[in-house]
Amino acid sequence: MAEADGSLNPYLRAREAFRDAVERLGLEPAVYEILKQPLRFLEVAVPVVRDDGSLAVFTGYRSQHNDALGPTKGGLRFHPSVTADEVRALSMWMTVKSALLGLPYGGGKGGIAVDVDTLSEREIERLSREYIRAVSLIIGPEKDIPAPDVSTNPQIMAWMVDEYSRIRGENTFGLITGKPLVIGGSPGRLEATGRGLIHATRALAREMGLAFEGATVAVQGFGNVGSVAALLASRAGARVVAVSDKEGGLYRAQGLDLDRLLAYKRDHRRLAGFPEAEPITNAQLLELPVDILIPAALENQITAENAPRIQARIVAEGANGPTTPEADRILFDKGVMVLPDVLGNAGGVTVSYFEWVQNQTRYYWTETEVNERLETFMTRAMTAMHRMHARYGVPLRQAAYLVATARVAEAMRVRGWLK
Ligand code: NAD
Repeated sequence: MAEADGSLNPYLRAREAFRDAVERLGLEPAVYEILKQPLRFLEVAVPVVRDDGSLAVFTGYRSQHNDALGPTKGGLRFHPSVTADEVRALSMWMTVKSALLGLPYGGGKGGIAVDVDTLSEREIERLSREYIRAVSLIIGPEKDIPAPDVSTNPQIMAWMVDEYSRIRGENTFGLITGKPLVIGGSPGRLEATGRGLIHATRALAREMGLAFEGATVAVQGFGNVGSVAALLASRAGARVVAVSDKEGGLYRAQGLDLDRLLAYKRDHRRLAGFPEAEPITNAQLLELPVDILIPAALENQITAENAPRIQARIVAEGANGPTTPEADRILFDKGVMVLPDVLGNAGGVTVSYFEWVQNQTRYYWTETEVNERLETFMTRAMTAMHRMHARYGVPLRQAAYLVATARVAEAMRVRGWLK
């Protein structure tokens, strides 16, 4: 299905990326035939008794794209726009992310088409428990491991792990990641995505011979990912000159004081009005003359329209899908390096993997151990991706697919799936 900007729907786009990787790597066509759709896809009806006693039935999904490298893993989103194709596509991206990071996982994803703002907390709890009952046969610590995503959170993960543990008759903390610390969550999980993004960006800057210390940085989005990325970039010696949230941005040529800005945001719950900076718009922020631009808010922010005016040398994607395919081509032709989301925001799934390892071994790590290992994983993945980029002369996003597809194909080959 073609969309307004000429790109394909996310499912068809993910398929095309696998087809390109299989052809470029000269792999057997069977690799594409297996990867072009999920191995297993379940659609479930999720009945919820409303607080007024009436019954509402929601549609939920769980997609298990490929488990050649290990159990499938991926988030679970509650959003009215969730569709079967979106969940399929997101599970395919998770296969790429996990394989690129060298995690012993395949790609999975789940979702429920629901507007959580219309439900009470008790109703959200019942929805979460009913969903787990509906998919319980196909999930489990050695089968498929969910995690939080859009509009789901540690509390929801706690209800879900509790429901699954009741069904099994035993505590099964390794079922799900992103749990509260007290029931087996991992230290460092909340900051993992922003932290991993900065590790990957520094590694890319090194590959390009760009000094991170003193580099200028603009960050769009000041939530979980953007605020941590901005803080850690400035701690690492970069000059963060601009940040923004949905209301607009702030600019200070000498660099923003991130500690004061975070304190201001905590007190005022917004960036607007921070006294030590000039206001700018989100559109202006994207086009600033900085070394590193970090989109960490929404999808489709860098498009064919504004890509020609992007001045950064590195676009480090914290958000999912902030650059459209057409903008990707324009940036590649201009020589801008796009650090793709599949690596840029993979710190979250990497620390989710650490959480699962801790649950399965029942031995818990310190935050320092988590953070050190995260850096190792992010840097190693960057090296593999950059090597593929240099070898095939393709953008980093395509290189990420090449690394991941080669790994999954090898696992499928040795397991005897391809003959
Ligand atoms: P968040 O809700 O904590 O923060 C989002 C930020 O973006 C907020 O500051 C919000 O004000 C801002 N924003 C919203 N609309 C905007 C607009 N139109 N222009 C500019 N800013 C706008 O979300 P998050 O967890 O930081 O996630 C951000 C992105 O990263 C999303 O694309 C998400 O899918 C992706 N991501 C997050 C994680 C994670 O672990 N949190 C993991 C992988 C990917």
